Amino acid sequence: LKANNARSLWHPMTAPSDSLKNPPAIIVGGSGTRIRDIDGHEVVDGVGGLWNVNLGYSCQPVKQAIADQLEALPYYSIFRGTSNDKVIELAEELRTFFAPDGLTRAFFTSGGSDSVETALRLARQYHKIRGEAGRIKFLSLKKGYHGTHIGGASVNGNANFRTAYEPLLPGCHHIPAPYTYRNPFNESDPAKLAQLCLQALEDEIAFQGAGTIAAFIMEPILGAGGVIPPHPSFMPGVEAICRKNGILLIADEVITAFGRSGAWSGSRLWGVKPDFMCTAKAITNGYFPFGAVMISEGVAEVFEGDETGRAAIGHGYTYSGHPVGAAAALACLAETQRLNLVENASARGAQLWAGINRLKDKYTVIGDVRGGHGLMLAIELVGERASKTAPPKSQPGQVQEVAYKAGAMVRVSGPNIILSPPLVLTSADAETILAALDAGFAAL
Ligand code: PMP
Repeated sequence: LKANNARSLWHPMTAPSDSLKNPPAIIVGGSGTRIRDIDGHEVVDGVGGLWNVNLGYSCQPVKQAIADQLEALPYYSIFRGTSNDKVIELAEELRTFFAPDGLTRAFFTSGGSDSVETALRLARQYHKIRGEAGRIKFLSLKKGYHGTHIGGASVNGNANFRTAYEPLLPGCHHIPAPYTYRNPFNESDPAKLAQLCLQALEDEIAFQGAGTIAAFIMEPILGAGGVIPPHPSFMPGVEAICRKNGILLIADEVITAFGRSGAWSGSRLWGVKPDFMCTAKAITNGYFPFGAVMISEGVAEVFEGDETGRAAIGHGYTYSGHPVGAAAALACLAETQRLNLVENASARGAQLWAGINRLKDKYTVIGDVRGGHGLMLAIELVGERASKTAPPKSQPGQVQEVAYKAGAMVRVSGPNIILSPPLVLTSADAETILAALDAGFAAL
């Protein structure tokens, strides 16, 4: 396996030539919060798979639910005329969870990109049903990440995820993100920056014409773009602007939902009621590819009130409503509650937050640390602190390599080291991650 690593496999988000030069670590086992590689080296997983393994690698109730469902009914389609018991049960459970946020209907998918595509498509259709077919454009945040389908790629804020695939959807425009450390306004006060970004949104809407815009999509805390929590006034401000202009609000909560943000959802964290909430990832703890789009009461009424039979026809995936995924999700929701993981995410998040701030005091290569909401944190490296120059390209990777040897897997994304460990993280695990990072920075 080691010899053939990357010879016959293209790894996602990796240049094939890079994979050949630097073969990836081969992970062969996982237990609790730890993963083990092919050489038997075991580390705390500071990445939580890919932001998704909230319950760790040996969550027995989820494994059992998957096994039981495979026995009972491994698959049946829920297209036109059939449904299955598990998927109805899950929709009811999610309705109970998210009714306080006004989200009462579920549409199931097989992952985050599918959830985003579903919301974009249904947003356009919503306006068509209401006789506003001219509302076709989408607005989003620079630095936002919304997956890899053509619609999602079009609203991605990072040009690196767009340019290779252009021309993308027409009418997608990107607004400055409330990224306090670097922004086009040179504004370091988070509240003032939020106002400037909201003004930029208003200006873009005026420029495009409100009646041409279908939806605004955003992550309540930017994840892949480098863990950027906005000021608490930002998302409520976006919501108000959307409402005023008849624009739907899509919350992309593929990372933030189900406890990672220290709340059941990022929208709830900010007190916002979106029209669509896209989820995936932790909904099944990474044990089964699955996603859910939660839909607001207001949007549901428009679709359900349409008597023409057009509504939602032409959208759905073979794996929309997969019974095994639904069984896994039900068990994950129950375990997340039983173990009080939303609270633990806040407590362990606060511990890591304090720890990475101490590292910032110690190492001048750390330009910015971000987090403070659950278990999603980032450390941004710089060449020089005062001028915020970019670090040497290899540096984040060097920190990662030494940290891995010292006992923790962390993730590199551009100049950032990202932490998104399982929500079952213990205090000792958090200290292991911090010590490993300390070793990583000391080695630079
Ligand atoms: N939206 C967000 C906010 C994401 O972080 C991701 C994946 N990291 C996606 C969408 C796409 O999800 P998937 O990779 O499951 O298709």
